Amino acid sequence: MTRTYVIDSIPGDGIGVDVTDVAMQCVDALAERHGFTVQWRIRDWNSDLYRKTGRMMPVDGIEQLSDGDGIYLGAVGTPDVPDDVTLWGLLIPIRREFDQYINLRPMRLLSGVVGAMPGIEELDIVVVRENVEGEYSQIGGRFGSGTDGEFAVQESVFTRKGVARAARYAADLAAERDGRLVSATKSNGIIHTMPFWDEVVAETVKEVPGVVVDKVLIDALAARLVMKPTSVRTIVASNLFGDILSDLVAGVAGSIGIAPSANLNPERRYPSMFEPVHGSAPDIAGKGIANPVGALWAAAMMLDHLGEKDASKSLTSAFEAALADGIATSDLKGSATTAEYAAEVLSRLKEPA
Ligand code: ATP
Ligand code: MG
Repeated sequence: MTRTYVIDSIPGDGIGVDVTDVAMQCVDALAERHGFTVQWRIRDWNSDLYRKTGRMMPVDGIEQLSDGDGIYLGAVGTPDVPDDVTLWGLLIPIRREFDQYINLRPMRLLSGVVGAMPGIEELDIVVVRENVEGEYSQIGGRFGSGTDGEFAVQESVFTRKGVARAARYAADLAAERDGRLVSATKSNGIIHTMPFWDEVVAETVKEVPGVVVDKVLIDALAARLVMKPTSVRTIVASNLFGDILSDLVAGVAGSIGIAPSANLNPERRYPSMFEPVHGSAPDIAGKGIANPVGALWAAAMMLDHLGEKDASKSLTSAFEAALADGIATSDLKGSATTAEYAAEVLSRLKEPA
């Protein structure tokens, strides 16, 4: 009996559509080659749907996704739809309803890619971002009025359970890597939540043999990631800090267009979601020049999560081989279009082993 996976694909908006198309073609080619089947359920949940119905996804959207084996997302967002609609109307509900509390964002310096910082030859960083609480909360509002009176309040919520499970996941990962975990903090300026974060991370990491934690202020960490990125391997960070740091690391490694992310429910009680880190990039949407590497890498993480380890490795080898041969999109200073780069990856996937 062949292994069959039901995957909900949400291409979304802008370049999300282009890169998802490439990722699905590559996964289909791998499925044929590695003897499994992917049943894609394509969901047109995007800003167009919002304009027509006032919703980014149907009322029962979460329910529709719940019996699948995974979710693949391109990107959502368009300039004329407010960010809070796209985020809170689709992305954040999926992450929270399916308890995808880990956002795993690996980054390496890929063969053939020149990073933003000269002289760096190797970089291998995984950001473990807490994905369902922290700074991204709906608690707060605008109060008062007038030049001297108006103000805004935004609350962060960190729970012991939430911080501990993110720290635990990151510490287990660090144990498989070099045993060192960097925890991003700002406990000198943010005096309630961040000392709590530090305390729970320290307590949790203590339970994982062979792992030491180094808490580093987010500002100093940002500088260190630019100046000495090879000195950091595994990072655990809150929702906001993790979001920022992973874009930073991707930039250092060459382009935000190459960065993947996995929104994981590690217990596998609910589907996990895989997506490139970048957004819909309205400035290049429709031009056919988007870099699909982040999307392909995310697809490889999905295959790995589904247990298709060989197919996952074939995919990362193929997109990296194309880059090593000098084929790249313009964000990586190459001249290939999305379609040209995709064709090169597909031909490498179909080469005899
Ligand atoms: P969103 O509101 O959906 O997050 P955004 O305007 O923040 O969209 P991002 O996609 O996050 O845009 O990326 C910022 C910029 O980086 C883009 O405007 C684009 O120029 C560049 N970029 C991002 N992703 C890619 C990619 N895959 N290929 C090429 N360039 C990219
Ligand atoms: Mg963005």
